[in-house]
Amino acid sequence: MTSKNDALLALVRWVSLVDFAKPFEHEARFNGRLRSTGGRFFPKDLHLDFNEKMYDAFSEDVFRQIVQHELVHYHLYRAGKGYRHRDADFKVLLTQVGGLRFAPALPDTSFLVYQCMSCKQVYQRRRKIDLKKYRCGKCGKPLQFVKGKELNL
Ligand SMILES: [Zn+2]
Ligand SMILES: [Zn+2]
Repeated sequence: MTSKNDALLALVRWVSLVDFAKPFEHEARFNGRLRSTGGRFFPKDLHLDFNEKMYDAFSEDVFRQIVQHELVHYHLYRAGKGYRHRDADFKVLLTQVGGLRFAPALPDTSFLVYQCMSCKQVYQRRRKIDLKKYRCGKCGKPLQFVKGKELNL
């Protein structure tokens, strides 16, 4: 039987290979103390922490973008480049792989969550959005349904 931490590590290794073409060779685990943070990179021993509530709450597509964000820190640090949020290297690589700049807010279960298919902006709404009519407020591209309790509307 594989534990949830094993599944997380497998996902991080997979995203690293697919989106960065480089192996992830350290530890990744859930940290129950993270609240609004999606994950955290530790330069001391190169391990990554991830927010278990976000893993449970978001689709794999959204969580993958959280993993991408942490892997941008990881791979830039290992390459001796600017790995902090303010560094140009960080901004460039994060944009290239399409990772999230900020972790999305954990959804209140009474909200429906949508995400822009292009710029990945997350929208939370009390009411169902008509996906045929509604477009992203930032870039004008279509949205997709991500999460919510009223699935069969
Ligand atoms: Zn970060
Ligand atoms: Zn957009």
